[in-house]
Amino acid sequence: MYFIDPHIHMAARTTDDFLAMAKMGCVAVGEPAFWMGYDRSGTNSFYDYFRQLTEWEPKRAANYGIQHHCWMGINAKEAEDVGFAREVIASIPEFLERPTVLGIGEIGLHKCTRNEVTTLLELIELGMKTDEQLLFHTPHLEDKYLGTRMILDILRADSRIDRTRVCIDHCEEHTIRQVLDEGYWAGITLYPTTKATPERATDMVEIYGSERILVNSSADWGPSDPFAVPAFMYEMRRHGHPASLIRQVVYDNPLKFFNQSRNFQFTPPA
Ligand SMILES: [Zn+2]
Repeated sequence: MYFIDPHIHMAARTTDDFLAMAKMGCVAVGEPAFWMGYDRSGTNSFYDYFRQLTEWEPKRAANYGIQHHCWMGINAKEAEDVGFAREVIASIPEFLERPTVLGIGEIGLHKCTRNEVTTLLELIELGMKTDEQLLFHTPHLEDKYLGTRMILDILRADSRIDRTRVCIDHCEEHTIRQVLDEGYWAGITLYPTTKATPERATDMVEIYGSERILVNSSADWGPSDPFAVPAFMYEMRRHGHPASLIRQVVYDNPLKFFNQSRNFQFTPPA
């Protein structure tokens, strides 16, 4: 069965990972801009990173029949310096016109500070100007509930937001219900240490259904698993779920969400 990993940081992964993912049935990925594990020293570092995501990674993926899409943004971890973030944000618009860009992401909150909120509002403003989809990162562990609540409050206060074109990612059991109830897409991240596991994601699909749910690996440079989506597919099978339901979550849903991006193009595998 084919699958799409809608949130994975391939810039931090090897070409061997692309090959192994392709062998398991991966046909497309979505790569949000994120924190590379260290703070960048200047705007040019972001500029080159955005070029990497829009020029080099699509070529690397295409060698294995994987269609690579990405999101442009500045992660909350580097959003504290508002002046610097503003410079980075000014460099984003030209990339939004590139053919593989899905929208603004991943953006959001980390420590939920006032400066992070200022930067976040400016990123949302940019997204609204050019009709982008939005992908939100929610904070880790103890900050998750507060951060998710704050993001939902910010979005609720903005009447321009089309909730069907927004994904709130890294949902867990204590945040997914409100995200779905308020009409957003909910991302569930499968991580070996924090976030969710294939078992917990399967439970969440059983409780909340499969509509507007995206399951991803968010695999990056840290302890993470680029084969987490196939592990979820196996867990769903083990629970006796039909192929049609598994396919909806790992293939149809990401396509449906990505399809709402103004640049999105996808060639289904033969
Ligand atoms: Zn991420």
